[in-house]
Amino acid sequence: MKRITFYILLISIFAAFSLPGRSGSVLQNKVVIDSRMTLEEATSGLKIPSPLKKSLSLVSVNYYSFDGRLHEGQVLVQSKLAGEIREIFREIEESRFPVAKVVPIVKYGWSDSLSMSDNNTSAFNYRLVKGTKVMSAHATGRAIDINPLQNPQIKRGKASPLGAKYDIKVPGTITPSSPVAKAFTRRGWKWGATWRSTKDYQHFEKK
Ligand SMILES: [Zn+2]
Repeated sequence: MKRITFYILLISIFAAFSLPGRSGSVLQNKVVIDSRMTLEEATSGLKIPSPLKKSLSLVSVNYYSFDGRLHEGQVLVQSKLAGEIREIFREIEESRFPVAKVVPIVKYGWSDSLSMSDNNTSAFNYRLVKGTKVMSAHATGRAIDINPLQNPQIKRGKASPLGAKYDIKVPGTITPSSPVAKAFTRRGWKWGATWRSTKDYQHFEKK
């Protein structure tokens, strides 16, 4: 092969591989992918009764995170509520209310406390209400926890996640007038902040 032919070949190979790659990375720069798993992956590693598993949907959502950039995450939720979750997150995105990240809790080995400490927003988790024998609304995918670090659960003065504070001046904190609370409550979701004994600022659920 002549040297010039070799160079032409080399350049065309380079062009063929680099161009789609470059445009691809431009696209990825626009949206930060926090989660892009399959439903199978999102429900793996835990014994979930088959009918319950079949009643769940994995919803892709976009939101602005604390870095000011648009992110893509996923909510594993009861299929009947999938449409509302889509609408609610569209409202949250439009309002630019920051959501840290939204990743199915399988990433945290189904540990609520690990997910909360990482400020992760999540819905389905086949678990009991902490400290009880009652199944949580999360166990049927009818509840979601948003930005746990800014919106802790406060039970008898103790915050979960540990060390978290509820301060309405901090961005990402849900207040009655915030777009998050409005988007959920307008659709009939109950907010844990309105509970009498335990205040659960991160928690919204729908029967
Ligand atoms: Zn919750």
